[in-house]
Amino acid sequence: MRFTVAIDGPAAAGKGTISRAVAAHFGFAHLDTGLLYRAVGARMLDGLDPVEAARTLSAGDLGRSDLRRPDVAQAASRVAAIPEVRAALVAFQRGFAGREGGAVLDGRDIGTVICPDAAVKLFVTASDLVRAGRRHRELVETGVETGFDEVLAEMRERDARDSARAEAPLRPAGDAVVIDTTELSIEAAVAAAIARVEAQLATVPRG
Ligand code: C5P
Repeated sequence: MRFTVAIDGPAAAGKGTISRAVAAHFGFAHLDTGLLYRAVGARMLDGLDPVEAARTLSAGDLGRSDLRRPDVAQAASRVAAIPEVRAALVAFQRGFAGREGGAVLDGRDIGTVICPDAAVKLFVTASDLVRAGRRHRELVETGVETGFDEVLAEMRERDARDSARAEAPLRPAGDAVVIDTTELSIEAAVAAAIARVEAQLATVPRG
């Protein structure tokens, strides 16, 4: 069975947590597509040309330990605005989405560009203050010394760049279900996502 769940949204809205929970619940494979752009961004910071970095990306690049760093997130969002970088990453993402047994992909353009025919499209969002609070907590917990204001400013800059770019800007697909996690617990958000997938799966002929 091929069954693709596309989960898009801005940084720290909860899409990663929801994607992992949905994948675990249904036994689907999961791809965090932000990691692809982060890996290209990290290679650019190493001095590589970003288009070349995207075209020669390897599994090892995705396992780098520095991909969660704020400077790598900013570099990711800069390389993500380059059409040739995005083009170099399309085939891998579509191949992953089409695998047997179901797949969940989370990112910014999964429902709009990568998998416009996805069986389920979710757009997970939250206010920027709440998102910055969550990201700040995450970073502090992993030992990164940073202030809330700095995280908020970094996040606003990245969201603005991701939303304003000409190629595959961050926006909900017309047929996406929006889940706003500003005042929703993670359990409630996960339950809403699972219910949506469940309802759609029930329409798929078994065989
Ligand atoms: O989701 P994450 O914060 O890891 O993504 C890092 C950056 O990669 C985003 O700010 C965005 O610029 C880019 N990205 C993208 N398209 C995706 C996933 C991530 O442009 N599908």
